[in-house]
Amino acid sequence: MDFRFTPEQEQFRESVRRFAEKNLAKGARERAHSSDYPWDVARLMAGQSLLGITLAEADGGQGGSLIDAVIAIETVASVCPRSADVIQAGNFGPIRVLAEYGSPLQKERYLKRLLSGESVISVGMTEPEAGSAVTDLRTTATADGGGYRVNGSKIFTTHSKYAEVMLVYLRFGPGLDGIGSVLIDTKGQGVRFGKPSKFMSEEEWVQTYFENAFVPAEMVVLKEGGFKKQIAGFNVERIGNTARSLALGRYAYERARQWAMQRKQFGRLLCEFQGLQWKFAEMKTKLDAGQLLLYRAAANADRGFPSAEETAIAKVFCNQAGFDVANEALQVMGGLGYTQEELVEYCLRRCRGWMIAGGSIEILKNRIAEAVFERSFPQRPGKG
Ligand SMILES: Cc1cc2nc3c(=O)[nH]c(=O)nc-3n(C[C@H](O)[C@H](O)[C@H](O)COP(=O)(O)OP(=O)(O)OC[C@H]3O[C@@H](n4cnc5c(N)ncnc54)[C@H](O)[C@@H]3O)c2cc1C
Repeated sequence: MDFRFTPEQEQFRESVRRFAEKNLAKGARERAHSSDYPWDVARLMAGQSLLGITLAEADGGQGGSLIDAVIAIETVASVCPRSADVIQAGNFGPIRVLAEYGSPLQKERYLKRLLSGESVISVGMTEPEAGSAVTDLRTTATADGGGYRVNGSKIFTTHSKYAEVMLVYLRFGPGLDGIGSVLIDTKGQGVRFGKPSKFMSEEEWVQTYFENAFVPAEMVVLKEGGFKKQIAGFNVERIGNTARSLALGRYAYERARQWAMQRKQFGRLLCEFQGLQWKFAEMKTKLDAGQLLLYRAAANADRGFPSAEETAIAKVFCNQAGFDVANEALQVMGGLGYTQEELVEYCLRRCRGWMIAGGSIEILKNRIAEAVFERSFPQRPGKG
């Protein structure tokens, strides 16, 4: 066992660090407080081959490993937390499911633009009546001529305001086995947006309604029976969410550490108070422990999908750790930490969201418990 990066990974990390410091350090605060997608960053990252890191070269990617993509997200976040979302969108999200399961035609139509940073794809799973119980989703695809008519709606979709295409989870028939997915152009006929709303992070989302939207048969990604495959792909998204939790926690920690070495009260530096030293010791321990869980899940996946169990354990721990660390870092920075002069409050708000998004902490703990006891624990009330 070796806990060090390979020389190639070190080299890659260094090149991403140089890129981030040169291009992303300036404007990091403005980006964090803008609800727009950082398109300029996306195009720069495309030029630097930071989109599609784990995608096959034949698909326009770099043929790298999941750990490479994690290195990219961590390194970018350490300079500009908001820009880490672009690494997420270009490597960990539905783009990866599209690359894995999409047809040559679907890839031809969408991947090139996604990888060039001109476009972004969203994933629509959650519905008003189907959150944690995602298999209760009601959006339907009904056969019609050479395709399907889609009816239903999606909520809380990240990128819903500006995504060109949505990977929509829907049902072709009843039950778990009836679930599959299609690609829907968000500007197409039969797609309507509700009132714009904001997450606590300031990112915008809109409810998306499908009203008899026609989807040609060639835009079906996975037909009925595809749910398990989709969730396997979704574990990659969870790794990105896990990595950002930890990376933003680390960003906040680093800002607080710097502050504690320069701010004086009672004639002493903050770092000289034991009450604060112990906070830092705990923060560092949480960050390092989370890092190992994250790297285990990512490294074991190599170029494939990560294990559901290792991903769940890493996400549960890092979501909580990122939030706790950002929260303590804010406390150490006092009033300044609570202002928008610093990005610590932004990191805290973002980390809070990842405790809910992409499989909440509670739902993932349910999954871990199933692995512990090697049996399933149905969450639904029994019949009768
Ligand atoms: C920042 C952010 C981004 C998101 N992006 C997307 C996106 O891009 N695409 C998308 O489809 N969705 C997205 N979501 C939605 C997200 O996936 C859902 O919010 C999540 O699945 C929880 O569903 P819910 O909000 O309906 O909560 P509910 O399912 O109503 O749950 C409420 C609470 O009860 C807990 N709970 C529920 N069931 C159980 C149980 N069996 N055992 C223990 N506790 C339980 C939950 O953990 C939660 O704390 C996003 C959400 C957030 C916050």
